Amino acid sequence: MCKCKELNDCEEALPTRDDFIKEFRKLDSSSELWAELFACDSCRQRWIVEERAEADHQSNKAFKIDDSVNWLKHDTRPALAEWLISEHGGLCEQQCTFTGCEAKALKNMAVCVQHGHPIYKWGSTT
Ligand SMILES: [Zn+2]
Ligand SMILES: [Zn+2]
Repeated sequence: MCKCKELNDCEEALPTRDDFIKEFRKLDSSSELWAELFACDSCRQRWIVEERAEADHQSNKAFKIDDSVNWLKHDTRPALAEWLISEHGGLCEQQCTFTGCEAKALKNMAVCVQHGHPIYKWGSTT
């Protein structure tokens, strides 16, 4: 039995990346994105799993994906934003202090999730 169904669209690959992907089969990889595409052996859920994020003192994130054909173009930002917001314990009532930004700031922070975390490395140019 795998845990894919219980997991969110964005998860940290814990306790270790190797452990997280141990029941997964590797389908593809991208050296440009520093990520690999996996399929769960039990439920066939596709996952994008980052690699080498620890070089940036970040945890490797894993993202659920449905369209594995276009996985390199998959926008991971919505799932990542959701994860970051829950990491911060939610949003506060204040607006982001970034000029022109109307998003709500993260709890105990002055800025919103986009402006507080410049780690949206995929799809950020579109
Ligand atoms: Zn699974
Ligand atoms: Zn903002």
